Amino acid sequence: MSYTFRITGKKKIKLKSFDPEYDAGLTREEADAKTAALCKEMMELQELLYAASDHSVLIVLQGRDTSGKDGTIRVVTGPLNSLACNVASFKVPTANELAHDFLWRVHQQTPGRGQMTIFNRSHYEDVLVVRVHNLAPKKVWKARYDHINNFEQLLVDSNTIVLKFYLHISKEEQEARLLEREQDATKAWKLSAGDWKEREYWDDYTAAYEDAINECSTKDAPWHIVPANKKWFRNLAVAETIVDALKPYKKAWLKKLDAMGAEEKALIEEFRREKQTTK
Ligand code: ADP
Repeated sequence: MSYTFRITGKKKIKLKSFDPEYDAGLTREEADAKTAALCKEMMELQELLYAASDHSVLIVLQGRDTSGKDGTIRVVTGPLNSLACNVASFKVPTANELAHDFLWRVHQQTPGRGQMTIFNRSHYEDVLVVRVHNLAPKKVWKARYDHINNFEQLLVDSNTIVLKFYLHISKEEQEARLLEREQDATKAWKLSAGDWKEREYWDDYTAAYEDAINECSTKDAPWHIVPANKKWFRNLAVAETIVDALKPYKKAWLKKLDAMGAEEKALIEEFRREKQTTK
C-alpha cells in the first residue's frame, strides 16, 4: 500500500480532500520501525544507482513554512552516502539569478548520472511565492507551468527519476509548530516573523499549490501529497515512496554491475596470462 497520494494529472485535486492527519492506523513505533527498514533499503539502492550510473534521482520537497522539509531531509535522506547525494536549497533569487530565466539556477543543480539531489524548495517557488506576492505578472507565472512540464520531461528523458513531494500540514498544526518554536530555546534559531506574515496568505498559497499540482503532475513526474501533521508518518510516507520508485530499477542495475564485473575480471585474467607468457 502507498502512504502518499500519487497525483498524475488525470483528475483535478483540491487539497481539502486530503487529510493531513492521516496515519494509515499505524502507531509511531510501527511507523518508525518501517522507516528504519526503508532507509536501509534506500541506502542499498543508492549504492546500486551510484555504481550503475545509468540514472539520476531528483527529489523535490515543497510545503508551507514548518511543514517539515528540513526534518524530512535529515531523517529520510540524511543516512545516504553523501558522495552521491546532495541537497540544493532555493532561496530568494540573487540579482544574477533574476537576470536569467527562472530555470537557469535550477538546471545547474540537477543530479548527474548515479547521483541523487534533493531540492529544498525548487522551481515551483516561481509559481507559488511569486504568484502569491505578485512578484511577476500573471502572464509570466502562468506560462511557467508549461515551461516546468517541458523541463521535467527533459530530465525524465535524460534518465532522471523525478519525485515531487508536497508536505501537507493543516493551518492548526502550523500554528502549533510556530508557537512551539517560541517556547523551545533549541528551536529559537528557526523563529521568523516572516512565517507569521506568510500564514496570512494561507488560502492564496492553497490555490497556488493546487494549480501547481494540477498543472504539473504527469505520469513520469507525478506529485505526491504527503500527510504531514505527524512527522513520523511523513517520514515513513516519503521513505516508502522513494524506495518504491527505485526498486523497479534494481534488477537492471544489478545486471549492469554483473556485466561490468565480468568484463573487468576478463581483463585481469588476460593481464595475468600475458604476465605468465613474458616470464
Ligand atoms: P526555508 O524557509 O526554506 O527554511 P528561508 O527562510 O531562507 O528558508 O526561506 C527561503 C525563502 O526564499 C522563502 O521565503 C521562499 O519563498 C523564498 N524563495 C525561494 N525561491 C524564490 C523565488 N524564486 N522567488 C522569490 N522567493 C523565493
